[in-house]
Amino acid sequence: MARYDVAPHLVFWETTKACALACRHCRASAQHTALPGELSTAEGLALIDEIAGLPAPRPIMVFTGGDCFERPDLFELVEHATGAGLRVGVSPSVTPRLTPAAMQRLYALGVRSVSISLDGAGPATHDGVRGIEGHFDKTVAALEMLVSMGFRLQVNTTVMRRNVTELADIAALLERLGVGIWEVFFLVGVGRGANVDEISPEMAEDVSHFLVDVANRGMTVRTVEAPFFRRVHEQRLEADVEDPATHFGLGELYRELSAELGPRRADRIGHSATLATGDGRGIIFVAHDGEVHASGFLPVSLGNVRDETLGSIYATHSLLTELRAGHLGGACGVCDYSRLCGGSRARAFARSGDALGEDPACLRVQEAQTAAR
Ligand code: SF4
Repeated sequence: MARYDVAPHLVFWETTKACALACRHCRASAQHTALPGELSTAEGLALIDEIAGLPAPRPIMVFTGGDCFERPDLFELVEHATGAGLRVGVSPSVTPRLTPAAMQRLYALGVRSVSISLDGAGPATHDGVRGIEGHFDKTVAALEMLVSMGFRLQVNTTVMRRNVTELADIAALLERLGVGIWEVFFLVGVGRGANVDEISPEMAEDVSHFLVDVANRGMTVRTVEAPFFRRVHEQRLEADVEDPATHFGLGELYRELSAELGPRRADRIGHSATLATGDGRGIIFVAHDGEVHASGFLPVSLGNVRDETLGSIYATHSLLTELRAGHLGGACGVCDYSRLCGGSRARAFARSGDALGEDPACLRVQEAQTAAR
């Protein structure tokens, strides 16, 4: 059996839709107050027990939202999860609820991984995206606090046209702050993100090569809804060239970002996250109301944990078994890198209504479409 056929590697639980922020690109279209139908404390505890009972290696559980601090029972749920032997990450919003005392309490309960969103290199872009003046400064202060407390810190950045030229400056800021992991989301037009410009396939290719450069400087880089980053990473290893811009015919965006990043540091060893996980392939998402999705960006319900176990849905739902078997359509179905990459299933669905279709953000897909005309 393939590695992720039986149980997921990562379970994202959208503990609530409630959040004090109103970000322009929010996948969850989060609300200031919780929506009705949220899993209760008892249902959350039962979900945790079930996940803890999945076959080894046990999945990592990420408490996301909305803002997980909007759940009054957050500490009880986290304590139950870590007590059951699960590794737990949290993904809180930067609001007045994110206090040193709250984070110390989570640390004492065994939480070590925290992810925080940062969408610009300065206040103009970040505050504009978040819709709150002064939020950039609060986010930088939160990152400094979390680094000093010893958390394994991940920054999430959503790439869109309005911030794509700031990526090198964001990378430099993360290096300066001591953030070890950068998870870069390539926007998929769902939730409030449907109103924000996605970058073009050419830009996505340039950004992917730039992210390989960032990883080569010592930061762990992952992408969300852009698994073609793994294809680019592999191509860079295969080519092993000094000048990727010329070798791969990259655009001005790559040249500018790469020049701003500066030379590779000889004392750092690069690392990119190249686990071949993807939507429904090692990753599963439980929404606030118990609905199960292959990812938080793929609004196809696979069932509900109120009716069926998560393990059963994950192992047997036909969409997930098709995804894991690699039964993809279009250019993704015939791509040499399909097993490593597989394309964003959420973007394929958002664009064509077919979750097994090709990922229109990938340059290879665009080239195949152009060749077919
Ligand atoms: S064509 Fe599809 S599988 Fe191949 S690299 Fe692009 S997104 Fe990935």
